[in-house]
Amino acid sequence: MRRIALLLLTLLITLTMAVPVFSAEPAKKRSSKSVKKSSKTKGKKTAATRKSSPAPLPVKPLPGKVLLTEMKHWSTPDYTRVAVTLNHEVSFEKHEIAKSPGSAIPSRIYFDINGAKLGAAVKELAIGDGLLKSARAAQYSADTVRVVLDVDNIKDYKIFTFADPFRIIVDVKGERQASISALPPAIAALPASTDESVQKELAKLAPDQPKESLVQKAPPRAPLKSGKVRRIVVDPGHGGKDPGAVGPSGLQEKDVVLAIGLSLAKKLKNDLGLDVVMTRSTDVFIELQERTAIANQVGADLFVSVHANAALNRSASGIETYYLNLAKTEKAAQLAARENGTSLEKVSLLQAVLFDLMANYKLNDSAHLAEEVQKSLYRRISGRHPSTRNLGVKQGPFYVLVGATMPSILVESAFISNAQEEARLSDPQFLEQTAEGIVDGVHAYISSLK
Ligand SMILES: [Zn+2]
Repeated sequence: MRRIALLLLTLLITLTMAVPVFSAEPAKKRSSKSVKKSSKTKGKKTAATRKSSPAPLPVKPLPGKVLLTEMKHWSTPDYTRVAVTLNHEVSFEKHEIAKSPGSAIPSRIYFDINGAKLGAAVKELAIGDGLLKSARAAQYSADTVRVVLDVDNIKDYKIFTFADPFRIIVDVKGERQASISALPPAIAALPASTDESVQKELAKLAPDQPKESLVQKAPPRAPLKSGKVRRIVVDPGHGGKDPGAVGPSGLQEKDVVLAIGLSLAKKLKNDLGLDVVMTRSTDVFIELQERTAIANQVGADLFVSVHANAALNRSASGIETYYLNLAKTEKAAQLAARENGTSLEKVSLLQAVLFDLMANYKLNDSAHLAEEVQKSLYRRISGRHPSTRNLGVKQGPFYVLVGATMPSILVESAFISNAQEEARLSDPQFLEQTAEGIVDGVHAYISSLK
């Protein structure tokens, strides 16, 4: 196991230097770097495979094999995300047409996906949100699909890809709206039945527990003075077909984090008076790019993704909180791979373009939020379980945080892979305390804002 880990680390370091072809950076910036195809890819087509020569980039056509299956968008007056899903990794070339000669603002952004066919069910998206007019895809030639974004008025945009499944994502930015927006009709605010759901989810995990014991009074917190944080998105990880990590006795991360998330949402609303939006409040599958899109779409001021940790080493335990940045350790990269549902190799490809994608990420505020939540959560949990390990605040390239424009963190509440912590995670009181600890941290963060 150790040898494999070392091999993977070597691979990771090698690939961290690589820049994949899908970078939206100008070709001249990328031309000096190169990457060799690793033997680890086992013959898989990889977008990172290219020579050290400048653009055009090598194209590996796979006629008839690659299908553009879906095109979706999420939009607000100041932010739009378009996601194009394909059934296989593929290379593409990005182009833009300037609004006027020399202008940095494009009137059209388009990319040609080589060796691809357009799925019959893919429809043109009439966006019309002031940023983009529309997004459309067409079979440009026998084996090239062209995706065109007609631009209305934008400040900036980024194109990047996610792996497994392969997605090309375009994040477009406009002017930030000053006032809190009404929730888009497609997104439900915190359901009125949350109280009921909390009890139901908690009771599911411990059916024998009497309901009375689930309710716990928290000590009063000072009322919040700062009005800078009004809306928060709570994101219970995984769901539906994605169970997340599974504990030694079969407890599933998706169930645990839903229970924590529901409880957290209720407390943030009732105790802190915040407007809360959940990415999911039932056992449904939501793609990672949609979770971030929801947070941006509702104009959230904070984003908290809740997870349970897992490691090959079954004795690993403790609490840690992440914000978006390059992984500093192999363990952090491994965790990001697991949470991203992809490989270490793909994580290193993401790392290579991460700085370019982080232009709108609130790095310092996210680190600050992570510190407050980690401190408060550890204080709560260690009060009852003094042996709990404080693993601290860490950094990692998590898909779910990429493109988030507000302070955003990912909380790893406990190790579901550790038998003792798995047992705790099936205890409703522990989950309530975890939610309480996160609320403490959010409260401390907001209180510290001038
Ligand atoms: Zn997770």
